[in-house]
Amino acid sequence: MKRTHLALGFILMLSICFALAADQQKAGLKIYISVDMEGISGIVHSDQVSSGTAEYADGRKWMAQDVNAAVEGALAAGATEVVVNDSHGSMRNIDPDDLHPRAILISGSPKPLSMMQGIDSSFAACLLIGYHAKAGTENAILDHTISSSVVRHIRVNGIEMPELGLNAAIAGYYGVPVVLVSGDTAVCRQAGEILGKDVVTVAVKEAYGRLAAKLVPMDEARRLITAGVKEALGKLPRMKPYKLASPYNFELGYHVSAQADMGAMLLPNVGKLDARTLTFTAIDYIEGFRTLRALISLAPAR
Ligand SMILES: [Zn+2]
Repeated sequence: MKRTHLALGFILMLSICFALAADQQKAGLKIYISVDMEGISGIVHSDQVSSGTAEYADGRKWMAQDVNAAVEGALAAGATEVVVNDSHGSMRNIDPDDLHPRAILISGSPKPLSMMQGIDSSFAACLLIGYHAKAGTENAILDHTISSSVVRHIRVNGIEMPELGLNAAIAGYYGVPVVLVSGDTAVCRQAGEILGKDVVTVAVKEAYGRLAAKLVPMDEARRLITAGVKEALGKLPRMKPYKLASPYNFELGYHVSAQADMGAMLLPNVGKLDARTLTFTAIDYIEGFRTLRALISLAPAR
C-alpha cells in the first residue's frame, strides 16, 4: 500500500516537472504575422495581386520575400516561434516552399478570423506586413477596405477603420499589441493615426494616385523591414494592445443601396442609417466582426 503511494507521488512529481517545462516553452517569444499583398514592395497594380495573370508570379514571390525579411527580424529579436497568416484574396498566395524555413504558414480561406486567423493570447506581438490604406484614401496603392466592390467605409465606435485598425482590435481582444505595419506611406500614416506614435512603420513605396508609386529599392525595402521588426520588438514592453470600448457600434457604408438591402432584410438587430448604410451594436468585438463579415458577404457585387 505504502509503495503504491510512493509510486503515485513520484508520478505526480514527474508530471508537475513536465508541466513546468511545457509552461516555460510556452513562455517563449511567439510572434504573429498577418501578411496582405497590396502593400508589398514592388506592387502597384491589381494584376500583380490576382492569380491567373502573367504578373502574379512576381507578386507572390515579392510577398514571400517581404514576409521573410520580417521573420528574420523577429528571429534576430529572440522569437521562438513565428506564425505567418496569408491574408490576401484566396489566402493561398505564399508558396510554402518560398517561406522562411523557421516560419509556420496558415494558408487558404475562408477562416473564422480571416486575416487574423491563428492569433491568441499566447503571442507576444503582431506584425502587419504588406497592408494598404482604407477605401477612399488619396495617393494610396489599391486603397480599399475588405472588399473594393462592396465597402465604401467602415466605422467602429465612430472611428473610420482601415483593415489595420479592424485587425489590430482583434489582436487587442487577445491582449496582443500590433508593433509594426509595412506598406505605402499612406497606410503608414493611418497606422500612426489609429495605433498611436509608438507603432513602428516601414514605408516601402510612395504612391502617385492609386496605381503608381516610387519604390524603395527591393533589397533596401527588405533591410528596412528587418530593422523595423527588430526595433519594434526591442520596445515591446511599452507597446499596448489596441482596445476599443464595449459595446462596439459598427457602421458599414456600401457603394449602392441594393447592397445594404440584403443585410437589412436578413440579419436581426441590424438597422439602416440611410439607404446604403447599415449599423449594429455588439457586446463582444469578435461577434461584431463576424456580423460585419456576414453583411459584406451577403451584398451583391456592384
Ligand atoms: Zn489584400
